[in-house]
Amino acid sequence: MPPCTISPKSFSRACPPRTRGVGLYAVLLPTPLAWLRGVAAIPHAVHSFFPQYFVSTRGLIFFVSVALPLDTPIEFLKGVGPTRAALLTQELHIRTVEDLVHHFPFRHIDRSQFYAIRDVDPDAALVQIKGKFIRLDSIGDKRATRMVGVFQDEQGDVMEVVWFRGITWIKKSIVTNEAYVLFGKPGIYRNKLQMTHPEIEKASEFAKPLKGGLEGVYATTEKLKARKIDSRALRKLIQTALPEVIGTYKDTLPAYVIKRQQLLSKAAAMQHIHFPADTSLLAAAERTLKFEELFYVQMRLLKVRANRNETVKGLVFEAIGEHFNTFYNQHLPFPLTNAQKRVIKEIRKDMGSGMQMNRLLQGDVGSGKTIVALICALIAIDNGYQATIMAPTEILAQQHYASLFELLAEMHINVALLTGSSKSAYRKKLHAGLENGQIHLLIGTHALLEDKVKFHNLGLVVIDEQHRFGVAQRSKLWKKNTRPPHILVMTATPIPRTLAMTVYGDLEVSIIDELPPGRKSIKTVHRFDSHRLQVFGFMKEEIKKGRQVYVVYPLIEESAKMDYKDLMDGYESIVRAFPQPEYQVAIVHGKMKPEDKDYEMQRFAEGKCQIMVATTVIEVGVNVPNASVMIIESAERFGLSQLHQLRGRVGRGADQSFCILMTGNKLSNEARSRMSTMVETNDGFRISEVDLKLRGPGDIMGTQQSGALNFSIADIVRDTELLDAAREEASYIYDNDPKLEHPSLQPVKLHLQQVMMRMPNWARIS
Ligand code: ADP
Ligand code: MG
Repeated sequence: MPPCTISPKSFSRACPPRTRGVGLYAVLLPTPLAWLRGVAAIPHAVHSFFPQYFVSTRGLIFFVSVALPLDTPIEFLKGVGPTRAALLTQELHIRTVEDLVHHFPFRHIDRSQFYAIRDVDPDAALVQIKGKFIRLDSIGDKRATRMVGVFQDEQGDVMEVVWFRGITWIKKSIVTNEAYVLFGKPGIYRNKLQMTHPEIEKASEFAKPLKGGLEGVYATTEKLKARKIDSRALRKLIQTALPEVIGTYKDTLPAYVIKRQQLLSKAAAMQHIHFPADTSLLAAAERTLKFEELFYVQMRLLKVRANRNETVKGLVFEAIGEHFNTFYNQHLPFPLTNAQKRVIKEIRKDMGSGMQMNRLLQGDVGSGKTIVALICALIAIDNGYQATIMAPTEILAQQHYASLFELLAEMHINVALLTGSSKSAYRKKLHAGLENGQIHLLIGTHALLEDKVKFHNLGLVVIDEQHRFGVAQRSKLWKKNTRPPHILVMTATPIPRTLAMTVYGDLEVSIIDELPPGRKSIKTVHRFDSHRLQVFGFMKEEIKKGRQVYVVYPLIEESAKMDYKDLMDGYESIVRAFPQPEYQVAIVHGKMKPEDKDYEMQRFAEGKCQIMVATTVIEVGVNVPNASVMIIESAERFGLSQLHQLRGRVGRGADQSFCILMTGNKLSNEARSRMSTMVETNDGFRISEVDLKLRGPGDIMGTQQSGALNFSIADIVRDTELLDAAREEASYIYDNDPKLEHPSLQPVKLHLQQVMMRMPNWARIS
């Protein structure tokens, strides 16, 4: 009897309440002999029609056709049971048969190939070799500690095979001079090729080669492996489950999309991702599943946006009033770049549209985002609303405050500053001013998120250097007004387009892709620590020309103590090399009191000292145009986007600026490519793309917490073209049939509902 895929014992538990489409056939046979024959013959005949059946031998024979429902608990799959089910759930989040078949292999290996031992590259990932053991020795006294075999291939070459565990089992089951197939990772031990703990199969059993030879490798965990659920066992389970459920897979993509994008049907993709008939079908299966995943991410984002536009009514800022006009015509300190004008227009249009604005403003460091924020704030104020600009650090908030205060000096606008170090008497007054609407523009740090801070009528929130704020903090801003204010998120870390589309896919995006005129591009070089004296010499030359210099040290929490020591040592050696009174050296770091930091920053900004030694507190936003040299110590310890941010502190004036990346002599390949990327380009978008490739998306901007990047198969770093295509198809649908009414879109509508149900609601994240 062919195996029943649900064990009979669990059958009754699994099926009655949940089976869909049961066909029940009773065959009553006349004589005992016919009955016996029938039992023998009928299952085979019936099996070809009904791959699932159950036979009762009590005189009646029932054939039951059951399409295994996808949500069948995994425990009922043959070969699983409650204990393994619990483990699978705990370790891999596999609860149902569907979860199991969606556990895709992370790569495939070619099992049609046998290697000759002499051709094996010891650095290769996994190889397969056919041959025999000519010796098997256990090493150690009574209780053998390891087992060493000498394995010879068909060419007569040998290698060592070693086991440290399961020795008794090896002794019992492996026989010398019989043909085996070994599969494992080669290595070198004492100059000899060696393999430890390979998978072993008798060559005779291996004789049935896999169709296509490609075998999926599945992620598993140590705990699972210990219970014998390794990649192979998972593959077997999937092999059992897949035929049962494959019939239930319907296409979730419209037929025209499948055709246009040259995809497989869903069922074929499911089949070939696990058990590909050949490499091209495997590629097509991957493409199909990735496309589907990316397509639904985009559909979901578009839907979130559409829902929000439907349910949330935006404040309408129609008037372009006195403040805007006065400032624009009389107080603009410089002509705006075309890019600045364009994004202001985009923002103005949003704020006047009746929808609530959620816009991301991207612009490289120094591209002039602050003035854009100010002009937008003026529009809000002209319409009788308050505005706030939130910065990630105290220093930056103060700097914004100082520069905006100056810009607005001749206008009748009340600007206030609120940070963590604002005194309570001042706060009281401030709270009152905000609540009665006397304060028009509030600049601050996280402090303004506190519940005590209430506004009279908040109309616009600008979040500067957005990635420093957590998702939860941002959503608090929504609640600062009965109707949610317009939100403008500004970031200087250019997010690669692909990532922006996914993480912020429900936001509109504006890009300032032009720097103010007259900026010279920053010259960047990489120097080793051994060249420090030359670097000091260079600093002296620049200082002689009247320039100022930043020297930045890394500071990370895990090694804070050492890092502070490095910083102080560095500071002392600089003070020695640049003695007073000719030179003045300032220092800023996180352990200092805010007022001391301030004092030092101020001295530097006013040009009273030539060198600023600092930790990364100055990373974001600080603006001292006369500073033209940025020296980054232990540059190898910084990520690319951070290096780019730091470099952005110089090159703000008309002078030629320099960035010197100091590193030790020993560098990893990755660090080397970070340095060379910095030396090669000033383009933030290019840098962020390299960054994404080097680090992967998980690290970037706390995107993990948004859950936006948990793909099961797609890879937004590599699959940019597919993402583009998916975005295009999704937008096409939304542009033409936003309610998804066309008959061809019904599968999409249905699947989208399921997708929306499963995802956390981050519609309100901006
Ligand atoms: P970021 O985009 O990094 O926040 P800022 O807004 O701090 O950049 O602007 C960087 C510098 O460029 C500031 O000194 C600012 O005054 C100046 N700036 C901004 N826009 C222009 C412009 N259109 N023309 C000349 N200088 C400008
Ligand atoms: Mg800025």
